[in-house]
Amino acid sequence: MRMTEHAVVIAGGGPAGMMLAAELALAGVDVVVVERRPDHVLAGSRAGGVHSRTIELLDQRGVADRFLAEGNTVQVATFGTTVLDMSDFPTRHPYTLGLFQSHIERILAAWIAELPVHTRYGCEVTGFAQDDAGVDVRLSDGEPLRGRYLVGCDGGRSLIRRAAGIEFPGWDATRSNLIAEVEMAEEPEEGIRHDDAGVQALGRVEDGKTIRVVLTERQLGSGSEPTLQDLSEALIAVYGTDFGVHSPTWISRFTDMTRQAAAYRDRQVLLAGDAAHVHYPAGGQGLSLAVQDAVNLGWKLAQVVQGTSPESLLDTYQDERHPVTARALRYTMAQTALQRRDDRIQAVVDVVSELASMDEPRKRLAGLISALDIHYDLGEGHPLLGRRMPDLDLVAADGPLRVFELLHDARPLLLNLGEPGDFDITPWADRVQLIDAGYKGEWELPVLGVVSAPTAVLVRPDGYVAWVGNGTDAGLSAALTKWFGLPTAA
Ligand SMILES: Cc1cc2nc3c(=O)[nH]c(=O)nc-3n(C[C@H](O)[C@H](O)[C@H](O)COP(=O)(O)OP(=O)(O)OC[C@H]3O[C@@H](n4cnc5c(N)ncnc54)[C@H](O)[C@@H]3O)c2cc1C
Repeated sequence: MRMTEHAVVIAGGGPAGMMLAAELALAGVDVVVVERRPDHVLAGSRAGGVHSRTIELLDQRGVADRFLAEGNTVQVATFGTTVLDMSDFPTRHPYTLGLFQSHIERILAAWIAELPVHTRYGCEVTGFAQDDAGVDVRLSDGEPLRGRYLVGCDGGRSLIRRAAGIEFPGWDATRSNLIAEVEMAEEPEEGIRHDDAGVQALGRVEDGKTIRVVLTERQLGSGSEPTLQDLSEALIAVYGTDFGVHSPTWISRFTDMTRQAAAYRDRQVLLAGDAAHVHYPAGGQGLSLAVQDAVNLGWKLAQVVQGTSPESLLDTYQDERHPVTARALRYTMAQTALQRRDDRIQAVVDVVSELASMDEPRKRLAGLISALDIHYDLGEGHPLLGRRMPDLDLVAADGPLRVFELLHDARPLLLNLGEPGDFDITPWADRVQLIDAGYKGEWELPVLGVVSAPTAVLVRPDGYVAWVGNGTDAGLSAALTKWFGLPTAA
């Protein structure tokens, strides 16, 4: 059988896999997504939405409106029971987008279908063997497939992670939840309640007849797939009745197991999304983290595949994403602890709620949950260094322009806000766009507040600032070389 080759093979076409495929395709990399489902359709609605920075990442690619048009923007970032209103954050999207994962995946699938992405549905990765130059990927249909890189975006039980022998340290589950979509013969008690086990919730979904159920189990549930009988018993334990539950379209179980891959890369194999980290869904971090991983990795992997950058650029993926995610995992662990309701935990919740309603803690926590406060450690310097580039309203030669519009093609950007023509980056002009523009407003960053105005910024394709100018080009060549490769000889 003839071997099929692609530069990058992605195992798993969930949010991480599809976002990574889009990033690679935008950068001109030949990529295939191998997804075991027969199509993009997801059983059950799963995650409830994405937070502010993730909406910004989609906006940077010009597709945020597709998602916003189908969901609701809401203030639901919480710590304990305190809702952390972020409507005063300096972003175009100071909210969470409430939109079920089934819709998010449908919209992502439609987007990547417009891009040069190969997708193989109904096919499972069953193993791989890597050598110095690439990876032979084994598929359930027996067809040989090879990639220079294989990225495991295959979810929390990742076969790629296990086959690569990557350790997955963390904390075992202490509690489990049943999640289901069902119909009920009787009128259910809609709403969220907390009891000594944890959170219990019943709510009607858009179609008006389906009830989404989330129940905390009294006993830690087993690894086997839950049944309608399990669900009925759990409903009776909480509500005293199962409300005549019937016709489930989805019953699943999740736990508070919290683990993070010790390494995000083993030579030609990388991990992203749930394959690299799992946690309790409290606070709705999982899908957002998956998309953020993909956007951090995509352009780096593209440059390595294309020979623009050395393999060492890939080390920055773990250096940057591991600490950010470790912090998010700690937040979810704290959230889980606060959901248990005995009198002492209630006392903690009361104290935390009081603190979280104060301005400074509110901003800190909302910055973390929204991921707007991410600060990759790119060294000492201006506060913008390693932080997200704000979506400023610029005035360029051709008229008004938003910064994010300049990132739609996922190309690096040198934004000159000083005298036009101040910079000459000819040796990188094949890779980096240089835009002269004016900006008169303040530079306000989420959580940090107003910072001094730079005269120029070098922005990576993922929207993070790699160099800040203060009237000279000192350090610019080094930053261009570090992030976007050696200068081209004249
Ligand atoms: C019950 C439940 C409720 C959740 N609720 C929330 C929430 O409210 N908010 C939130 O943010 N997050 C929530 N999450 C987490 C969120 O769904 C995940 O974090 C998110 O889906 C991660 O995306 P991913 O692409 O990394 O992995 P996944 O979405 O798991 O995608 C992995 C993909 O890989 C495919 N696959 C797996 N193995 C193979 C293989 N060997 N070969 C080919 N394909 C393979 C799978 O079919 C799947 O499509 C929830 C998760 C669960 C299970």
